[in-house]
Amino acid sequence: MRGPKIRRFGTFSGGIDLPDDKGLTLTRPIAEWDDIENISLPLGRNMRSATSPLVINDQKVSTGRIIATADNESPDIFAPTDATVTGFSNVEIAGRYTMRRAPAIDLKIASPIKLPPAEPIAPHWLDMDEAALWDRITEGQLTVHRRGSTPLAHWVLKARSKSCGLLVANAMEQQPLVTSSHRMLVDHGPEVIEGLAILARAIGISNAALVVPRRRTDSYRNIAPPADKYNIAQIALSHKYPTESDTILTKVLTRLSVPPGMTPMDVRVAMIDPATCLAVYRWVACGQRLAGRIVTICGHETRPDGNYFLPFGARCLDIIKPRDRSVIHGGPMIGAKCNTNTVVTPATDAILAISPSPYAPSSPCIRCGWCTDHCPTRLNVASLNDDFELSLIEHARRSHVTACVGCGVCSYICPARLPLMQRVKELKLAVIHAVARDGRTE
Ligand code: SF4
Ligand code: SF4
Repeated sequence: MRGPKIRRFGTFSGGIDLPDDKGLTLTRPIAEWDDIENISLPLGRNMRSATSPLVINDQKVSTGRIIATADNESPDIFAPTDATVTGFSNVEIAGRYTMRRAPAIDLKIASPIKLPPAEPIAPHWLDMDEAALWDRITEGQLTVHRRGSTPLAHWVLKARSKSCGLLVANAMEQQPLVTSSHRMLVDHGPEVIEGLAILARAIGISNAALVVPRRRTDSYRNIAPPADKYNIAQIALSHKYPTESDTILTKVLTRLSVPPGMTPMDVRVAMIDPATCLAVYRWVACGQRLAGRIVTICGHETRPDGNYFLPFGARCLDIIKPRDRSVIHGGPMIGAKCNTNTVVTPATDAILAISPSPYAPSSPCIRCGWCTDHCPTRLNVASLNDDFELSLIEHARRSHVTACVGCGVCSYICPARLPLMQRVKELKLAVIHAVARDGRTE
């Protein structure tokens, strides 16, 4: 399938130079976190789209048993290990734009959930025909490891229907402290590359690339042989933030602009992440359905900062106690504050205890214009802040608020400490709802 070409590795207007503050987590190998006994597995992406539980309270379930059946928007849910159902609750998970509530099954697990060693099984995925590979992927009931947790099979079908001609594994990971993708490439790089090759074949794309920060390339020598074998381009880019945004990365790689409110697939570029590639490799090549993911942990009282394999459904505040600090789900630029019921999902790349709190009191706008100058999508952020304060949804729509990529540059740079990213995201969501309600196209 032909598609957009990688034409240049350029730059973009706006953005900032973030400190490379990643400390020891860069160099420590991925470790297990084996004292979690209770998990709450989300049953869907929100309260409306949820799978139906097939179990009752106090029921014992064995490893791999289906405990909730798929609906249109969520895959089947499997017991990650032998466990007992202890109840049903509501949890908070990372949605596409904001944190969302979703129903969950509470389980007491009989043994720790770990990242098993990779053990490939027959047949090799290269020996499967197209139909067999597709059956294998759909059987996995995996989700994409990004905010919103789309079912993987839906994502592949969408990439096919949009005739995507370029597949990119986005490993830019520029936020301070966060290193989960980096460690995945260091410790499991060949598996990530093979997972990317599997996805390329499933979509029918011959043009695939792995994109990493230029200042980390020395650490990734292990990925060159498999990348050459599967004809995957390796691209290193400068660290100007937010190159890691899918929209900005699309622009930097291809010169194509993603229209406001649309995604890179609308310009025929499929963006994925190393965590999904690793999960795809483990399922398709090894028959292992991963029951957790690699997460950067910083600020634990007794355990060293580092990257740990955490089970899906673990409560973030059971992992790091807040004490006098804020605990953030996601990185310091784009993350959200954890509540007592925020849980680890495929979209969780970091849980960080940060002091002082990034949610400090703000003061009124002083009209310095820095937020607008540095916004990578050229939004007039100060004007959008006025729209937020005055609830001017229609004006925000006309100002193209849906072009916001949620990078957090505006909040980071604002001397008045206004929570601009959250405000612009709320406006964007309000515009999306208003447009859907009125049956208009953006
Ligand atoms: S308005 Fe959106 S895209 Fe612009 S700097 Fe703020 S978060 Fe980033
Ligand atoms: S950076 Fe903050 S203070 Fe400056 S114009 Fe933007 S909102 Fe106002």
